[in-house]
Amino acid sequence: MRFLVTGGAGFIGSHLAERLLKQDHEVYVLDDLSTGDLDNVRHLEGNPRFQMKVGTVLDPETLKPLVEWSDVIYHLAAAVGVNYVINHPLQSLTTNIRGTELLLELANKKKKRVLLASTSEVAGKKNGKATFSEDDDRLLGPTTVARWNYSTSKAVGEMLGLAYWREKKLPVIMVRFFNVIGPRQSPEYGMVVPRFIKQALLGHPITVYNDGEQRRCFTDIEDALDGLTALMEHDQTPGEIFNLGGNHETNEICIKGLAEKIKTLTESDSPIEFVPYEKAFAKGSYEDLNYRVPDLTKIKKLTGYNPKISLDTTLRRIIEYYES
Ligand code: UDP
Repeated sequence: MRFLVTGGAGFIGSHLAERLLKQDHEVYVLDDLSTGDLDNVRHLEGNPRFQMKVGTVLDPETLKPLVEWSDVIYHLAAAVGVNYVINHPLQSLTTNIRGTELLLELANKKKKRVLLASTSEVAGKKNGKATFSEDDDRLLGPTTVARWNYSTSKAVGEMLGLAYWREKKLPVIMVRFFNVIGPRQSPEYGMVVPRFIKQALLGHPITVYNDGEQRRCFTDIEDALDGLTALMEHDQTPGEIFNLGGNHETNEICIKGLAEKIKTLTESDSPIEFVPYEKAFAKGSYEDLNYRVPDLTKIKKLTGYNPKISLDTTLRRIIEYYES
């Protein structure tokens, strides 16, 4: 089949493109290289079933022929990363909302199946220590806090997807990623794992924000791809939202614990430095989430998704990647 992967030069997109090519599909990547990188897809370039265009999902002239060419679309192009979103609020809103709107409008003309990449961030900060399920109430801070731009823009994407499904019968599947990690993820835009690994390998202080008691559940990229492709192939997924994350028994950890683990695995002498939020972010731009772990009941029940890769295994693989 012919797959269009928007954002295909990014971390998740480039791994997805690689997997689709391995399965003998044709892949067209569209990426504006805002956070994506040509280096992520360089190794795919010789493959006759691989094509790449540098351009934006905001341009109908660019997007239209690619949508027409494709059988199926993975829409991953978006502004991502807490730091990036805080520093580029306007671009984030525009890319995430207008880009998704345009893509759905074009896909609808020929009823192409679309998978929209969404995020656990949509649920917001949520009080207490309960896992996040797809239909939980959302809890966001004020609109003045730039971080919530991202949550809001992705929520609009989900609502557009649902509206196209309900009103136009366009088959749209929405997937909320939970802290996906792996080789090629850039440390430049805020993601904690590549940041800590880079800091540890360079012998720089490992910067744990606040007291490091905040908890996350990390997802290996290969598990995430298993989930993504299973959702794309299933006939009952259109019009639905799915959490996609790691196994909390092996992959949930507090951020201080993560720093200690990475320090041990890299045999680093880096000190662990506790940084107050006020020092790390411009005033009023950031709020943290104390706890974020997915409830995976829905995706497991429907597709048999079963994430297998432990945090330790993933971290070792990412460390090896950075070392090489
Ligand atoms: N974090 C940290 N130090 C860093 C970057 C992030 O302590 O240098 C923390 C951040 O405050 C959050 C967690 O790590 O509690 C995960 O941050 P990330 O930006 O990777 O993703 P989030 O889950 O917040 O979207």
